[in-house]
Amino acid sequence: MRHNRRNVRTIVVLATAASVVLAACGSSSAGPAGAGGRPLAVATTTQVADFTRQVGGSLVDVHQVLQPNVDPHDYEPSPADLDALARASVVVENGLGLETWLPKARSSAGSKGLLVDASRGAPFIRPKDPHLWHDPRNAEHMVRAIAAGLAQADPPHAADYQRNAAAYIGKLQALDADVARQLAQLTNRKLVTNHDAFGYYVHRYGLVFVGAVIPSFDTSAELSGRALSDLVARIKAQHVKAVFSESSLPPKAAEAIAQRAGVRVLEGKGALYGDTLGPRGSDGDTYIKMMEHNARTIVGALR
Ligand SMILES: [Zn+2]
Repeated sequence: MRHNRRNVRTIVVLATAASVVLAACGSSSAGPAGAGGRPLAVATTTQVADFTRQVGGSLVDVHQVLQPNVDPHDYEPSPADLDALARASVVVENGLGLETWLPKARSSAGSKGLLVDASRGAPFIRPKDPHLWHDPRNAEHMVRAIAAGLAQADPPHAADYQRNAAAYIGKLQALDADVARQLAQLTNRKLVTNHDAFGYYVHRYGLVFVGAVIPSFDTSAELSGRALSDLVARIKAQHVKAVFSESSLPPKAAEAIAQRAGVRVLEGKGALYGDTLGPRGSDGDTYIKMMEHNARTIVGALR
């Protein structure tokens, strides 16, 4: 899943051009830089972009860097990303080491936007595992951090951001309770996924993680034949009922393992949303819909 290696030179040229335009506009204040005088927020991942839209409502323009099904563990920014970074009042990142590309991109774009690390201070952190949003209690923290950042960058609308955040957090709490209730019905709670993205989910909802096809927090680890055989053996020995592929990863290895172990593989529309939300119009095009889809899928397969 390596993309976007090209365009490095274009990026530098465009970033320079963007800084020049910014300077030419005499934009010395930290004020609004989006369309129609609204502040522009750059949000890196599909999840933090959704949170930022929920909190910002119609008051903020959001430039979402990562698109659905683009691997967040290996991204290189486009010229449009750098242009947005140059103009942004706020830059929202997931943090926990996910956005390795961001420091360099911010500096080449000359970004003066307030950086919000949405995971900083989150209540349930697994060291080195960036997939914290799969625990809605962490999502709640991320939404609060984003609201605080927007309020700091745009003080006249601080109360609006706090109000939007509070309303959305109410929905997140209801979601969390609903997912917990659904998963509590399961007697077989054993999970095998495509890569190791569901540690927070497993911890929050009391599942048992048996293994991942790619046994790594990122998506680039190589699989050995020995590791695959071991996973097949564990699936059989522990009576795992299904292998869950992820919507943003190729299902081939998951299919092969499920076939060798003689269990079901969930793929295509039945795959879990792991690293990214789904494209617009899909079952997972918002954070809340993504969590509902994953719960439904897991309960449906393990019941
Ligand atoms: Zn991941």
